[in-house]
Amino acid sequence: MELKALCMKCRDEKNKPTMQVMKDVKVEEKNNRFSAKGVCSSCGGNMFKFLSKDDAMKVKNG
Ligand SMILES: [Zn+2]
Repeated sequence: MELKALCMKCRDEKNKPTMQVMKDVKVEEKNNRFSAKGVCSSCGGNMFKFLSKDDAMKVKNG
């Protein structure tokens, strides 16, 4: 599954963060809350996103 997250470095002409594809995604679980860490496919900056359990399973299973 392709995961997208807001990238704080990739900004549009209005200087707002834009949605970019996250690569090298690692899913983490803590206290039954899921999150994804990865890097922006556009600029290589670090990304972070909270996931629902369903999405976490989809990402883990490809
Ligand atoms: Zn970026």
